[in-house]
Amino acid sequence: MNRRRKIYEGKAKDLYEGPEPGTLVQYFKDDATAGDGAKHEILDGKGVLNNRISEFVFTKLNMLGIPTHFIRRINMREQLIKEVEIVPLEVVVRNVAAGSLVKRLGLEAGTQLPRSIIEFYYKDDALHDPMVSEEHITAFGWATPPELDDIMSLAVRVNDFLTGLFMGVGIQLVDFKIEVGRLYEGDTMRIVLADEISPDSCRLWDIKTRNKLDKDRFRQDLGGVVEAYREVAQRLGILVENDNALTTGPRLVQ
Ligand code: UDP
Repeated sequence: MNRRRKIYEGKAKDLYEGPEPGTLVQYFKDDATAGDGAKHEILDGKGVLNNRISEFVFTKLNMLGIPTHFIRRINMREQLIKEVEIVPLEVVVRNVAAGSLVKRLGLEAGTQLPRSIIEFYYKDDALHDPMVSEEHITAFGWATPPELDDIMSLAVRVNDFLTGLFMGVGIQLVDFKIEVGRLYEGDTMRIVLADEISPDSCRLWDIKTRNKLDKDRFRQDLGGVVEAYREVAQRLGILVENDNALTTGPRLVQ
């Protein structure tokens, strides 16, 4: 990993030059941040778990024909991905009221929404990722109207898949954030899913106990963050019961 040139340093992930043109290596760190980086901790083993959970989800999405940047996992913390041009938007899909929606609209957390809702935020740390409308996105050229159509149908397909996947293991998918990119192949360009899908970017509630199994444990100082992420991985069948990702590394069961 040290031999490769780092081309981007993020809060929870770094990107390195890939082995071939058009590829990158995505490295999952143990860093957790919240409140625009005001809160920062190292959570031992988080990166390993997110790498595995995101690999699991992206592999299944690829199999379903939902295009992603994911090629394959390389090791405990790295995955090989296709280089894309990131669209500067955070795309949030919500099924149940939580987080900023609750504050903004005065809803009660946990209220089922009348239908799934897609929101867009402009990716700009200095501006604290402001919420934007389709009008802003197309007027400022962050995405074209046809790209926005593709982004929204991709978001809906990912939501349908994830909702069923998590429901099957007793977890309610409350909301999640995705990022998308433009993949150039020859003369063609298409919108693909990029970044990661993990408990860092989803709200996941245990259906029976209502326990939070996601980054809200960190944001709200609830403790047991890595344990909750490991629970998600174990329920998905990625980690064997009692497997300890911190000391032995995850064992592959399939
Ligand atoms: N989210 C994220 N990164 C961000 C902001 C939000 O992954 O920078 C995810 C968050 O984990 C949740 C969803 O997007 O699953 C909706 O987040 P919300 O807008 O409620 O913001 P928050 O309350 O997390 O500030």
